[in-house]
Amino acid sequence: MATDMNPFEMAQQQFDRAAEQLDLEQSVRDMLRWPMREMRFQIPVRMDDGRIQVFFGYRVMHNDARGPAKGGIRFHPRETLDTVRALATWMTWKTAVADIPLGGGKGGVVVDPSTLSPSEKERLCREWMDAAWKMLGPRTDVPAPDVGTTPQMMVWMMDEYSKLVGQYTPGVITGKPVHAGGSLGRTAATGFGVVVTIREAMKHFGMDPKNTVAAIHGFGNVAQYAAITYIEMLGGKIGAVSCWDREDKTSYTFSREDGIDPYFLQKITDEYGTINKAQAREAGYQIEDGSAWLAKPVDVLIPAAIEGVITGESVKTVHPKVKIVAEGANGPTTPEADAVLKERGIFVIPDFLANAGGVTCSYFEQVQNDMNYYWPQEEVLAKLDQKMAVAFNGVLDKALKHDLYMRDAAYRVAIKRVEWAMRLRGWV
Ligand code: NAD
Repeated sequence: MATDMNPFEMAQQQFDRAAEQLDLEQSVRDMLRWPMREMRFQIPVRMDDGRIQVFFGYRVMHNDARGPAKGGIRFHPRETLDTVRALATWMTWKTAVADIPLGGGKGGVVVDPSTLSPSEKERLCREWMDAAWKMLGPRTDVPAPDVGTTPQMMVWMMDEYSKLVGQYTPGVITGKPVHAGGSLGRTAATGFGVVVTIREAMKHFGMDPKNTVAAIHGFGNVAQYAAITYIEMLGGKIGAVSCWDREDKTSYTFSREDGIDPYFLQKITDEYGTINKAQAREAGYQIEDGSAWLAKPVDVLIPAAIEGVITGESVKTVHPKVKIVAEGANGPTTPEADAVLKERGIFVIPDFLANAGGVTCSYFEQVQNDMNYYWPQEEVLAKLDQKMAVAFNGVLDKALKHDLYMRDAAYRVAIKRVEWAMRLRGWV
């Protein structure tokens, strides 16, 4: 985060604010301010050179009133219990606002995965599962990939779990590759979902999407599929994308007068989302400073790279033409910048609503695993479109009815749904 605040304190503050506005009972606040269950464990792994290295792992279940906890596993050198707690809390709100019957959880390991060989990664994944499996299961808590983990790692973990319980159990983890229990459409899901929410916002404002231009921060998984869907589904243009250059250790913005071609850019982008500058320049792209994307005279901004990028300072560069900000990334807007966007009347689709397409598709993956029957990609995307549109309009209705900022409305919808489930189950 651009702010140095402890992420869990931030998640708790956000909750406290919403709890005040909703006038929640004390028992509800006590349940939701803290995770229901937390585990920290040691993971001894035999390294390739024969020695044992001990890693630390976490799994936190924030709340499972609405269904099994859901959330990724991060492999990151600076992973802490508080980061995992915060991410687990945000997952509870995300699954609730998307109205999928799941709760919120998160896990992690303190490790830099780029320092591990493939066989060390496999052993770490299997050992993580050996330590955590009793807390997991298709009906209890279902992990997925996140920063530093991959679909291959999910299969190793699924395989280990299946051996431990004595039966093939693909639904214990999602984000698996197609051909190993994964769902078609998962790669595109988050970016696709972001654009569905933009489409619905445009309907509300009576905007013709074909005449709109968007600028995107990032050109990784979320950004690439947001760009493709914006062009294919809405018929609009993407004026600029920005990405991190790993060699130069700085970011650049790539633009073209008649709009970028995401398929061409995909071909010259590496697996980490870095676009090849020389090839882009040769193809007629203008290359500017990494912050230029935010100042473009566009209708829509899609921050889809990292957290804390729209700050109290950088928000001043946002062009007066901008009408919608759709947060594809998690936490791209700092609280200071958020206050400015709100004051300027810019319509913000908050992260846990805009990027809920990924977890919604993970839920579809679990449903398919359960049935052992797999849907074609069109069916997955049609169901995703419908779910995202309903989620967006539920929050919009709440915002209009109570004259609320979209982020506040989304918090209210999510927290209320979790409260209802807890109340009906007799927990509060
Ligand atoms: P990714 O690693 O595939 O891509 C990240 C992109 O951001 C790359 O193009 C990289 O160059 C760019 N980037 C990094 N630092 C930058 C900087 N300082 N300036 C400009 N560009 C920079 O990641 P992703 O999966 O696309 O995820 C992006 C965001 O969306 C993250 O916040 C992630 O938590 C969130 N998210 C992702 C998913 C998903 O399904 N992938 C789901 C929900 C939320």
